[in-house]
Amino acid sequence: MDNIRIAEKFNHMAKILEFKGESQFKTRAYTNAARTIKGLDEELLVLHKEGTIENIPGIGKILSSKIVEMLETGTFEAYERTKDEIPAGIIEIMNIPGIGPKTARLFYKKLGVQTLDELSRAAREHRIRRLPRMGEKQEEKILRSIVRQKKDKDHGRHPFVLAKDIAAEIRDFLDLSPDIEKVAIAGSLRRKQDTIGDIDIIAISEEPKKAISYFTGMEKVEEVLESGTTKASIIYPGNYHVDLRVVNRDSYGSMLQYFTGSKEHNIHLRKLALSKGYSLNEYGLTDEKTGELTKFSSEENLYNELGLGYLPPELREDRGEVETSLRGKLPRLIERKDIKGDFHVHSNWSDGANTMEELAEAAIQKGYEYIAITDHSYSTGVANGLSDKRLLEHIDAIDKLNEKYNDIRILSGTECDIKANGKLDYSNDLLEQLDIVIVAVHAGLDQDRKKITKRIVSALENEHVDIMAHPTGRKFGKRPPYDMDMETIIQAAKDNEKVLEINSSPWRLDLNDVNAKKAKEHGVMLAINTDTHIIDHMDNIAYGINIARRAWIESDDVLNTMKLKKICSRLGISKE
Ligand SMILES: [Zn+2]
Ligand SMILES: [Zn+2]
Repeated sequence: MDNIRIAEKFNHMAKILEFKGESQFKTRAYTNAARTIKGLDEELLVLHKEGTIENIPGIGKILSSKIVEMLETGTFEAYERTKDEIPAGIIEIMNIPGIGPKTARLFYKKLGVQTLDELSRAAREHRIRRLPRMGEKQEEKILRSIVRQKKDKDHGRHPFVLAKDIAAEIRDFLDLSPDIEKVAIAGSLRRKQDTIGDIDIIAISEEPKKAISYFTGMEKVEEVLESGTTKASIIYPGNYHVDLRVVNRDSYGSMLQYFTGSKEHNIHLRKLALSKGYSLNEYGLTDEKTGELTKFSSEENLYNELGLGYLPPELREDRGEVETSLRGKLPRLIERKDIKGDFHVHSNWSDGANTMEELAEAAIQKGYEYIAITDHSYSTGVANGLSDKRLLEHIDAIDKLNEKYNDIRILSGTECDIKANGKLDYSNDLLEQLDIVIVAVHAGLDQDRKKITKRIVSALENEHVDIMAHPTGRKFGKRPPYDMDMETIIQAAKDNEKVLEINSSPWRLDLNDVNAKKAKEHGVMLAINTDTHIIDHMDNIAYGINIARRAWIESDDVLNTMKLKKICSRLGISKE
């Protein structure tokens, strides 16, 4: 469980307690804790390993034990118990913007309203406006909010990492149905977009009605929005809209292609089909003259029929993939097996949970040739960053470790802070002693566009710097990208031969696909790093690769696909 989900649970808990009329003291403890957790720079999982959760200001013994419970079980007992003490629909009501626990309580006590439907009926029947503190305006506002909540499909996009688990859970469940032959996830999830609107699922079945009722009858379904003969839409916990289309075997390829999208890609394909005398829809290609429909059981056949090569879903955004394929010049997208190492890993010398040895062993397990230990510099403050003296000891420790291992080269590195004035935490003399220097912005984030751009550019001009980490600083659910001039930064990276990072943390994914593609087009090299703080994070490389593939990136565009020998000569370090 990650920080954001833990914070959300605490917020929910506070709302439930407030609804029940518990003391403000009790509810405030949860909301304050949620706020603290959202502001943390480190994952609670890491702090748990270190045994330091209790030390977070405002958390204390009781809440920290609940956090640990969530980390281990996904929830906490008190929450489950308290939640069951109030009607289930109340939580949904409290999630409507403008309706807090107090108002929900008022509706419940005075009108007996327990569900969203009952609330909307009460509003339509003008029973809300007669309540104390309410009026005509409030009533209309509530109705509008309910409608928006139900209809607005764009509302609340979900980070890929969360949506993919929900989709997998539903897919696995559908797989169990005797009436469903095959299930596939389509839509933006299949295209590996960084955030997901709806979840689109396709199932092959010769018994569509049974398949649909199996889907809408899943235990966790919160609401059935639509239930037809071949398609259905539901709401799943966490405000996920999930759409299912049931198809038969013959048109599976056409359907999968159609529902994978994107919309823009499909429009382009339809134009291409028209130019060849066909109309294209989700059932296949129809000959304009004869009216004959050709169905496709595989996507590949459909693309080939249109004169295109198979287009990996990640490319289907109408960013030139159709034209490029027609010219036979599609990129050979990077794959997991191309990755030979990781340049951004934290050990327990700063805010990581693991020793350098554990990280080195894990890298060997992954088949890597090298790994850079890049602990924080001291400006970061929260992250137990290394002083000059500790940095020198860090370098020594890595030297010693390299004597121990033949299968892996451990590179001594730093994630050095770029201070507000553009200067780095360490002197050039110190930086020179490191194998690799990555730089990053972690503080002073409220600077204006000009300042922050200049600050980063001056760091990129330093001859010892190799990589700029998580360049825009965005974090899902926490903060948007810094206001910075990406063009200028990409140009500075190009001019100074620096590498830009695709940070694989599923909460960062920074650079994103659009910026990474831009960087590639400018001839800037990229590194796909995990920013590991705990060994499991090393698997996040998959998320970074998703973004790289969406950015048309090939093996040669990426620094950490190079063999050790090449890395050493590029970074100017001796091989032994
Ligand atoms: Zn960082
Ligand atoms: Zn880092």
